[in-house]
Amino acid sequence: MNCPTCEEPGTPVSGRFDGYLEGYRVAIVECGRCGLRYADRLDVPDHLYESIYRHAAVLPGYDRYARYAREVTRSADPLGTLADAELPYRFAADAVRLLPRDAVVVDLGCGEGYLTYALRQAGYACVGVDLSQTVVARARRRFGRDDWFATPDELTRHGADLVIALELIEHVPDPVGFLHGTTKLLRDGGSIVVTTPNRDASPTDAIWDTDLPPVHLHWFGARAITEVGRRAGCDVTLLDPSHRPSPAPVSRTGTWEPLLTADGSPSRAVRRVRGLRWRLRNRAGRALAGPSPFRALPARTAAPASTLGVAFRPQRLAAGARHAAPDAERVPG
Ligand SMILES: [Zn+2]
Repeated sequence: MNCPTCEEPGTPVSGRFDGYLEGYRVAIVECGRCGLRYADRLDVPDHLYESIYRHAAVLPGYDRYARYAREVTRSADPLGTLADAELPYRFAADAVRLLPRDAVVVDLGCGEGYLTYALRQAGYACVGVDLSQTVVARARRRFGRDDWFATPDELTRHGADLVIALELIEHVPDPVGFLHGTTKLLRDGGSIVVTTPNRDASPTDAIWDTDLPPVHLHWFGARAITEVGRRAGCDVTLLDPSHRPSPAPVSRTGTWEPLLTADGSPSRAVRRVRGLRWRLRNRAGRALAGPSPFRALPARTAAPASTLGVAFRPQRLAAGARHAAPDAERVPG
């Protein structure tokens, strides 16, 4: 199967195995051009995220999201609490600091809704969106505000200054199409901040050190995510999470087992791996005083962080380009 980003033929790097769902047979392929690792099938069962969020409290990885949802309501500084817990929220907290207070933020793939809540508590107008009706209903119940959460269909009336999509792009079958579609939610001059597990932070012999397909379908390094932005017509800034210790990636050896049965119930493997908390150790780190939000990652870094943070700005909407070439903005009709 060709690379979903650059459409070049890929090379298989694994045999076929059962993915996140029992019976979902899949192999991993690598693109020789952009270095993307991807699943050789990109079909996602309709029930997948409803099943995951129905059982989130016991699924490794998702269980901590359920915990954050409980914890933020007890924090005096929910956004700071999240930023201290994991790098993706640090990138988000850094990005919103650039914005005026009347800016509109969209939390795309909001899951349990705690980041939407934290951004609201920090004073930003934020709308959370998620594909899963189960989790959106739960977020509405927990945080008590219907107008904070929308379905994707309801979103188009909101023009956003910033779209935050944390740990989402690795789940979508067509990353370039997803990013290009997301640019249409932006107001003039707006940006998209994306985070995703960083393949460059794992040992080179790790085949797939992230959630199994069809949950994660792609595993990006810096080169691959930059190519996604280029193909979607965006300027790309790899964000600098510097001054933060980069936790050593934790091996997933022993947890390569389906976590859901074919009909979407937790598998027997869930009971065994629940106590490991590997994802938490993998991602946790202490936040230090951050640099300016869109500070670019230096070209050479000693130890890549476990999470890639990337800012995308549509080239057509970039403020610099508009002033430099006003004619380019003149669209007929
Ligand atoms: Zn590629």
